[in-house]
Amino acid sequence: MRIGTVSIHLEDKEASELCRPGAGADTCIWLVMGQDGWECLYYNRAEGRNLLGETLEEKWKAGNTVAKRDGCDEVKQFGDDISFIVLEKIKKFHAHLDICEQCRNHPFGLCSEGALLLKDAGEPTIKRR
Ligand SMILES: [Zn+2]
Repeated sequence: MRIGTVSIHLEDKEASELCRPGAGADTCIWLVMGQDGWECLYYNRAEGRNLLGETLEEKWKAGNTVAKRDGCDEVKQFGDDISFIVLEKIKKFHAHLDICEQCRNHPFGLCSEGALLLKDAGEPTIKRR
């Protein structure tokens, strides 16, 4: 179960403007190409281990990344909003548990509404300003 992590997906244009892949040290270290395209791991930095069991953050701190830039203003400005949004969504899920006997008693067999709320708490969508 993952509650409280935030994934940020980027369009090609956004990735090339904000993350600058291929720009050497000016490339953002948190940009990765995932199954759904470009993804920013700024708020998920402890995730995604490579085959050596190392996270991107560990690799970066050890100086083993070509890219060196630690995020961008665009993604940093989400900071407070993200914790707020995630907290609100977790609260919504917990409020549902208070009224739904099935979800309370069957954490692995959530009702459809409970499952949606939990998924949403794990993957909140944040709009760019
Ligand atoms: Zn339920």
